[in-house]
Amino acid sequence: MKKKITVAKGDGIGPEIMDATLKILMAAGAEIEVDEIEIGEKVYLTGNTSGIDKSAWESITKNKVFLKAPITTPQGGGYKSLNVTTRKFLGLYANVRPCKSYAPFIQTKHPEMDLVIIRENEEDLYAGIEHQQTNEVVQCLKLISRPGCEKIVRYAFEYAKNYGRKKVTCLSKDNIMKQTDGLFHDVFNEIAKEYPEIKNEHWIIDIGTAKMADTPQDFDVVVTLNLYGDIISDVAAQIAGSVGLAGSANIGEECAMFEAIHGSAPTIAGQNIANPSGLIQGAIMMLTHIGETSVAEKIQNAWLKTLEDGIHTFDIFKEGSSKKRVGTSEFADAVIANLNKKPDQLEPVQYSPNAKFYLPKYQRKEPRDKKLVGVDVFIDWNGTNPDDLAQQLEVIGNEDIALSMITNRGIKVWPEGFKETFCTDHWRCRFKSPKGYKIGKKQIIDVLSKALTHNLDTIKTENLYEFDGKPAFSLGQGQ
Ligand code: NAD
Repeated sequence: MKKKITVAKGDGIGPEIMDATLKILMAAGAEIEVDEIEIGEKVYLTGNTSGIDKSAWESITKNKVFLKAPITTPQGGGYKSLNVTTRKFLGLYANVRPCKSYAPFIQTKHPEMDLVIIRENEEDLYAGIEHQQTNEVVQCLKLISRPGCEKIVRYAFEYAKNYGRKKVTCLSKDNIMKQTDGLFHDVFNEIAKEYPEIKNEHWIIDIGTAKMADTPQDFDVVVTLNLYGDIISDVAAQIAGSVGLAGSANIGEECAMFEAIHGSAPTIAGQNIANPSGLIQGAIMMLTHIGETSVAEKIQNAWLKTLEDGIHTFDIFKEGSSKKRVGTSEFADAVIANLNKKPDQLEPVQYSPNAKFYLPKYQRKEPRDKKLVGVDVFIDWNGTNPDDLAQQLEVIGNEDIALSMITNRGIKVWPEGFKETFCTDHWRCRFKSPKGYKIGKKQIIDVLSKALTHNLDTIKTENLYEFDGKPAFSLGQGQ
């Protein structure tokens, strides 16, 4: 029986590259039936700010496999990115982006490059929780969860195990973000121990990215947080040859979505010149996911042979190494003509019939001992001298909870601040028990209520907790 998959042709170059991709899938004998839905620009422009309607969701959640061409997110107007919505609604926590070079047929400075980026896909700054709090300051919350970290790190090691990869590299910025990136790195260290046969390493994201751009052949599987993964996967795809060549799988426990990593390229839409390769790569990952590995293998080898034959779309065409410049549909025809052929110089692929693997469900841990020890009260204040603010704040504390520190954009400005430090109108004022005791919510309410009486503009609070006796909040910079 044919497997029904949901297909969206998207916007811009989407319909052209999807038609080319589907033509190849059908010619290769993929046992699939297409259930087409409308999403993106047309739906947004009907006034639906999510870009997708109920019947389209029903198709995706019923079929559980979604092949999606890129869509255009209209600028402004409160339109939310449909890509981010889909990943989060469907719990597609793992974004898998293989980036490989095809030298000498596609020009690259890195002929040995063959890495896979596994990007966390649901959390981080992509929670999209932003607020303006004062005239001068806006914030975006970075949310990282233990289940989120465990799922993605385990996925990376399982991927390495199942695809015969030798090393997993974790990239984070835990020297600065000790709670959020710190949790990601800690979970990486914990889970790495369960896979002694796979090498593991950690790099701080900045130098890690520099090394990846310089010697990508030293990397194998890379696991990282959402925003870093978004950026470095574009870098990796581009230095491998072109962003137009890379596909992406978004994997969840129930559903999966497959796409190209590039966008809808509106400026080249409707001209039959776009490279369909990124979506073809996404579709090949989809075929291995639904168990049609022999068809996936057939298409990938035909695609490699086409690259090797020098039949290239404009974005990868280079005088000398390329032989024939073709349009989108002619490229698809060339791949179809090569079905059942293998590349001569590039290594042909061979996919294991059991390419799909299953991860155990996340088990919630026993709760740790959680103790409230203070509160950060954020205040909108137009003054410039932190000593003046401290004087006003000292009267709103009491013997149970007192002002211990003020920071401005994270840097300690009281006590013993530097007069050189630039201050905005957004002040974090830390109240704790002077004796280090546990406090109650009542004390926080007392502080806020006194702040109100003294006309202090409180804009938010963050409770300070210890877990198992360890402080679980950041110190002030310079504290
Ligand atoms: P883009 O990826 O669409 O284009 C970037 C550059 O790459 C352009 O010069 C484009 O012509 C070229 N390019 C992209 N794909 C190509 C292909 N297959 N063949 C040849 N050249 C190709 O990025 P953008 O211009 O920043 O975004 C355009 C729209 O796409 C925006 O509305 C954005 O929101 C959306 N977008 C969608 C997705 C998605 O649906 N997954 C991803 C990224 C961007």
